[in-house]
Amino acid sequence: MSERFNVVEQFGIDVFNEGTMRQRLPKNVYNQLMRTIAEGSQLDSSIADVVASAIRDWAIEKGATHFTHWFQPMTGITAEKHDSFITPIGDGTVIMEFSGKELIKGESDASSFPSGGLRATFEARGYTAWDPTSYAFVKNGSLYIPTAFYSYGGEALDKKTPLLRSMDIVSEQALRILRLFGNTTTKRVVPTVGAEQEYFLVDKKTYDKRKDLIFTGRTLFGAPAPKGQEMDDHYYGSIKARVADYMKDLDEHLWRLGIASKTKHNEVAPAQHEMAPLFVPCNLACDQNQLTMDIMKKVALEHGLVCLLHEKPFAGINGSGKHDNWSLSTDDGQNLLDPGSSPMENAQFLTFLAAIIKAVDEYPELLRMSVASASNDHRLGANEAPPAIISIFLGEDLEALVEHLVNGTDYITKNDTMFNVGVSSLPSFPKDATDRNRTSPFAFTGNKFEFRMCGSSLNIAGPNTVLNTIVANSLKEFADELEGASDFNTALNELIVRTIREHKRVIFNGNGYGEEWFAEAESRGLPNFKSTIDAIPSFTSPKSVKLFSKFGVYTEVELHARAEINLENYSKAINIEALTAADMARTEILPAVMRFTGEICGIAANKKAVGIEPAVELQLAEKLNTLTISLNTLIDELSSNVVKAHCIDDAYAKAVCYHNDVFSAMQSLRAVVDELETIVGEDSWPYPTYDELLYNI
Ligand code: ADP
Ligand code: MG
Repeated sequence: MSERFNVVEQFGIDVFNEGTMRQRLPKNVYNQLMRTIAEGSQLDSSIADVVASAIRDWAIEKGATHFTHWFQPMTGITAEKHDSFITPIGDGTVIMEFSGKELIKGESDASSFPSGGLRATFEARGYTAWDPTSYAFVKNGSLYIPTAFYSYGGEALDKKTPLLRSMDIVSEQALRILRLFGNTTTKRVVPTVGAEQEYFLVDKKTYDKRKDLIFTGRTLFGAPAPKGQEMDDHYYGSIKARVADYMKDLDEHLWRLGIASKTKHNEVAPAQHEMAPLFVPCNLACDQNQLTMDIMKKVALEHGLVCLLHEKPFAGINGSGKHDNWSLSTDDGQNLLDPGSSPMENAQFLTFLAAIIKAVDEYPELLRMSVASASNDHRLGANEAPPAIISIFLGEDLEALVEHLVNGTDYITKNDTMFNVGVSSLPSFPKDATDRNRTSPFAFTGNKFEFRMCGSSLNIAGPNTVLNTIVANSLKEFADELEGASDFNTALNELIVRTIREHKRVIFNGNGYGEEWFAEAESRGLPNFKSTIDAIPSFTSPKSVKLFSKFGVYTEVELHARAEINLENYSKAINIEALTAADMARTEILPAVMRFTGEICGIAANKKAVGIEPAVELQLAEKLNTLTISLNTLIDELSSNVVKAHCIDDAYAKAVCYHNDVFSAMQSLRAVVDELETIVGEDSWPYPTYDELLYNI
């Protein structure tokens, strides 16, 4: 543990942030850079050299010897290649150099990153370009420059480029709406995001004994521990000393990097925890979340722990998600999803609210697709909140208002005034105090929406790109209509009421868990994409291509590339799991069961030799024998299904085979193994059980 940590002094100390820039850059350069950042435009090459040398001096003072263009390829994780600052000057000595060109643009061999066919293999070059709206930082002796990654032809090869594009378009369309409300001062509207991160901690020594955790991040086998989460005693429970030490250390690492870690607590499942940072602009939130996940894992190792970010490390208890809290803010500090206190602000709030309701109802399949992965399939649609059906929770008060609006009845606000769009003011809508609707995938929580379908390991660029784009689309349609109206107030009122009436079906305040909801949702015509396989094709549907290409967020080619990569990732993930499961079953479990059966038979023979009937032993041996036969058959079945999947060329058909045949063979195998685990003696079982994994920290 660290010496006493001075948070105020240390916060953001490793980040080349605005404060540092002001201190270190000439005034005119600083002003120009700030303008670039505020407008989200490109950095002028004339000032790049000045900025670069200031960053270099600062980074060297922090102990950096290298720099790296840090990017987020379509694998979803981050990539970095480090170059040192050293430049020989011919007399056997070196100087430390870093040019504006090196800051702004990098070139890297992209051939080993997935491109979904975007980059023909002979064109191995990829380019990285600094995103000046995300600050550079120093970590482990290197200067990290957050960048976007694209191909020679300009196609996005990463997660960041489309996100940045979507931020531009939602800003542009939101500004049109704000101008209609008489706002002449706001220059940019920024989507803000706070990503709550759930994770599990397990002991490193225990972890090391399980190949499944090492290779796949989740347990492929494991009978439930006698105690799960049924006592509700872990959520917000007192934090164990070892975990508290970890959390403290984690906070300090995050704070140094300017990540405002704010909340920490135990989560519902045993060994599960959460960290929530303060919200920031969405590209920065994305970078910070990627860094957070990386640091969570590294700090855990220093504490003899392993941080599991998989969506479902353990069967039978909750998996981990990442709630994406999302709102729109103006550059002059107004949260557009805050109901506010004046009639004008409220009409504006309702406009944005209606735009979001419309967006979510029109493009649920894109939101669903943006969170689809093999690992998240264990949560969505698999008996764990939230369900795979997208609906919106508004909370009681707002729901009542919406009802009155569409029915044309009077809505009396809490301070007894009558509400009518544009003429009176609304009460604020506090976050539902009881927070009873934890099952909703998309919930209004007072002044923001919380998109809860994201998996814990997901790169949040994808879902936020979709959110920004679909909301921009609604706002564009609104602005097109309202700009042409002769009487703004009448037109606005009519538009809001009509929009909510048309899209009301997506609003659902009940229990998103219950069987009734599945039937109800179906009758409302809401789609239910149960698995990744069902979700991915919507990405390349004509409807999706039309939307994304209209705004230039993804070209059709980029969409196809991404769908292809998602399918490949799905197949690869299940393939690794299947190989690991088969290997563990064949080389660890089967021999252990046979040894144990041998011991039982030995005891039986001994008993028999002295004339005692070995009734229990024979019964047990019989049972073990039956299960061993199933085990052996199921291992073979799993292996042959893997071979079958390998032989399929078409990416979609292959993924379907992994889903229908390989995954289900794995499930059948697991059922037998888990049953064996409950019979075989604890000392004979080849790896640590759930009891040890979940309760030994
Ligand atoms: P809970 O777990 O009850 O949902 P938390 O406090 O854990 O709440 O997380 C709330 C998250 O929402 C935080 O990351 C917070 O910064 C974020 N948030 C708050 N206001 C906004 C906003 N206007 N835009 C985006 N995120 C926000
Ligand atoms: Mg929380």
